[in-house]
Amino acid sequence: MQIRCKNCRMPFSIGREIVDQALNTMQDENLVHFDFRCPNCKKNNKVTQRQLLRAAPGWSYTEKNVSKNDKSGKAKGK
Ligand SMILES: [Zn+2]
Repeated sequence: MQIRCKNCRMPFSIGREIVDQALNTMQDENLVHFDFRCPNCKKNNKVTQRQLLRAAPGWSYTEKNVSKNDKSGKAKGK
């Protein structure tokens, strides 16, 4: 998707993969918008979830697989 930096007005593009990741993070952390850093002036640009969804048709939330790597936690006895 294309974003135009609100600070320096330079347009920059965000790959589909990044958009997907951003949507997942938003879901995890209950965010209303996501900050993308402008490659030119390094300022953050807020992008709403609605904008991201438009850029990522067919996106669906994939839960983090924390349990797979967590061996320290609950070890079932017997
Ligand atoms: Zn900028």
